[in-house]
Amino acid sequence: MPRRRPGALRAARRDFEGRRPSAWAWELPPVDRLSPAASAEVHWALRGEAGDLATLLDKYRAFLRRPGNRLRLSPSLCESCPGCARDDVALVRDELAELYHGLPSEARHALGRVLHALDKEFRRRTLLASVPFRIGPDWRGRPYAWWHRRVYEGS
Ligand SMILES: [Zn+2]
Repeated sequence: MPRRRPGALRAARRDFEGRRPSAWAWELPPVDRLSPAASAEVHWALRGEAGDLATLLDKYRAFLRRPGNRLRLSPSLCESCPGCARDDVALVRDELAELYHGLPSEARHALGRVLHALDKEFRRRTLLASVPFRIGPDWRGRPYAWWHRRVYEGS
């Protein structure tokens, strides 16, 4: 999903590492369930994308709140458009991974703890697919992350 520029995000992370977020970042509302310090770092590093992080976490939780013991992933009907791509929780998780890697350490560790708990529930509620839904490599030439190898609807 080539919507963000991971190189640019990593460069930003270097700029923010070991520094205290600017005053304005502390005055913005908390991001999701993160601490004030982690939230300030998220606002500081991601700017306008801080709200996007909260939206993506909401989407991941909404998937996990679906009724039933075993959940199947729903493919997106048009995954090249950024809004519709988020109908597929694996693509939501990709975006979360990209944001995670761009964050300075306090925020990255805080988000990591949130993702770890959600991932654990995701693994518990979904099944490993014998044939992956997406055959790699992805657009970066890397294998797809483990969350793509879960059972989808209709398979
Ligand atoms: Zn669309």
